[in-house]
Amino acid sequence: MAQHLSRTTRGFVGGRSHRRRSEGQSPYEIVTTRIIKALEEGVVPWRKPWQEHSALPCNAVSHRPYHGINLFLLSLARYRDHRWLTYRQAEGLGGHVKTDEESSIAVLWKQWEPKEKEECNGQRRRESIPLLRFYHLFNVAQCEGLGLPETESSARAHHQRIEAAEELVRSMQNSPRIHAGSKVACYSPQLDLVQIPTIDAFVSPDTYYATLFHELGHATGHETRLNRPGVMGTHRFGTNDYSREELVAELTSAFCSASLGLDNSLIDNSASYIQGWITTLKADAKAIVTASAQAQRAADYLRGGREEEDRFGSGNDSPFEATA
Ligand SMILES: [Zn+2]
Repeated sequence: MAQHLSRTTRGFVGGRSHRRRSEGQSPYEIVTTRIIKALEEGVVPWRKPWQEHSALPCNAVSHRPYHGINLFLLSLARYRDHRWLTYRQAEGLGGHVKTDEESSIAVLWKQWEPKEKEECNGQRRRESIPLLRFYHLFNVAQCEGLGLPETESSARAHHQRIEAAEELVRSMQNSPRIHAGSKVACYSPQLDLVQIPTIDAFVSPDTYYATLFHELGHATGHETRLNRPGVMGTHRFGTNDYSREELVAELTSAFCSASLGLDNSLIDNSASYIQGWITTLKADAKAIVTASAQAQRAADYLRGGREEEDRFGSGNDSPFEATA
């Protein structure tokens, strides 16, 4: 099993039309279509200068952060205000969505409980099935009369963000060995070893840490940690399993970079990189949603389950109010 995972350094105003457009599509397909559209426009949703934003997307009413795939879906809209809400929430605040504003989508897992089943031992059991649902959200900037205060920038200085990144690496639970000074960045599951060039080989400290988070993301899949099949299986470069695990590592790095306010936008955004993901996502409508969920767990593992700055959470709890 000569596996080596490597990389080089380096509304409702608008609601009706929105609904028609997504008619007949599953939530997975709706999300994937949105992500592919961005990629085809040359935008990689998980490669962002996150420090431009003083805070990451959250619900304007509950203040709960949108995490997982929702971070990417909402960040694509590029509003300066990080607060989002549903049409009904805007009305609940005494305001409204402005005319002709188009909604953004976010997803939520809902537990569906079908009828009780009788098992062979005579006991009746109700099995809960997670179903993916999507919602329409509007940015606060798309609304009027909400009566919300202006947001204040809470961005940390660059050296503080880098110190926080180093601390995240240093405090990782059950960490793999990390060897700095190699020619390429890679993770070896057999050796449980992350190798990475020295920090001065990168275009910026942010890029170094984003790359390190990618490799540590792979390491979370080791059998002594989250035991992901994509890491411990016998896949080879170019296979579907390999592509899926690469996506998990990319998104894990993005979640960590976003939580710390690092700029990961300078890493390879080449046409071939983008085309590779378009091909992967078109082949599997569930790939991006599944990888986001796995990456969220990986990022939570890296961060020791801490809710640092509460920028993203760890569970499937709803960031929506009941009015959603
Ligand atoms: Zn990788």
